Amino acid sequence: DEREPVEEVRPQAPVKPMTATEVKVNVSIPDAAERAAATGADGVGLLRIEHMILSTNKTPERYIDDHGEDEYVSEIVDGVRGVAEEFYPRPVRVRTLDAPTDEFRQLEGGESEPAEHNPMLGYRGIRRSLDRPDLFEYELAAFRRLFDLGYDNVEIMFPLVNDAEDVLRARRLMEEAGIDPDKQDWGVMIETPAAALGVEAMADAGIDFVSFGTNDLTQYTLAVDRNNERVADRFDELHPSVLKLISETIETCREEGVSTSICGQAASKPEMVQHLVNEGVTSISANIDAVRDVQHEVKRVEQKLLLDNVR
Ligand code: PEP
Ligand code: MG
Repeated sequence: DEREPVEEVRPQAPVKPMTATEVKVNVSIPDAAERAAATGADGVGLLRIEHMILSTNKTPERYIDDHGEDEYVSEIVDGVRGVAEEFYPRPVRVRTLDAPTDEFRQLEGGESEPAEHNPMLGYRGIRRSLDRPDLFEYELAAFRRLFDLGYDNVEIMFPLVNDAEDVLRARRLMEEAGIDPDKQDWGVMIETPAAALGVEAMADAGIDFVSFGTNDLTQYTLAVDRNNERVADRFDELHPSVLKLISETIETCREEGVSTSICGQAASKPEMVQHLVNEGVTSISANIDAVRDVQHEVKRVEQKLLLDNVR
């Protein structure tokens, strides 16, 4: 027998399905970056800054009092950098601080936090950041440093915005921190009905993307506290009114040239994937363990769309 010996066949890594819709991954702690990158995700759709700060068990103010602002900035830079490096050049969307006051109150330094009746309707997200530009500037300084270090795959995302005024004020603070909003990719979470209904004006403020935070969007659309067990059976991300807000936002964003994404928990629900892909969402970002299923569901829905089109 003169045939060449057959080369040993190695087991192949599972092939990532090619899809028009990007499938990204949420990274909850920077330590999980390697595992997240190994999913073959098209990027990180949500990295929460609070994981870098609150893991020190101190409020930002207490942290700065104890360690100084340089170390505060470095803490953020180092946390983001690990993820940005792991994914480079795939984009990594980093969200500015969003913890509510009841979470801050549990930390060292938390005694000076306001005691709020409704923390979820209160002092959190961009509201807090715009109210304390003297603290917010350190987060922005961290982004500036990351860009200077060459991590042009880092994107900035602002949580809990309501309207174009919120967006313009955030934009101005970015500029004051030496970040060019026309050069870097930045955007906002769509978490309130006001934001969904007002997205056109926010597009005019120069955002590159929006991302549906369906945990909050559901809570605020249905007036159902996401943490209240008594009404947990009413917490329905697939409620027609939530889906309608999402559909209309995607349509407006398409007209405005703004990309759309989802990073809430509902991203791993097949019904939500179907809705989003049918509406033409740009990307879907799911938790690490759900990424593969979402990739396959997106592929299935896209193929069905193609077939429906030729029939
Ligand atoms: C959301 O609201 O869906 C979201 C992703 O943000 P968080 O869960 O951190 O409020
Ligand atoms: Mg949210």
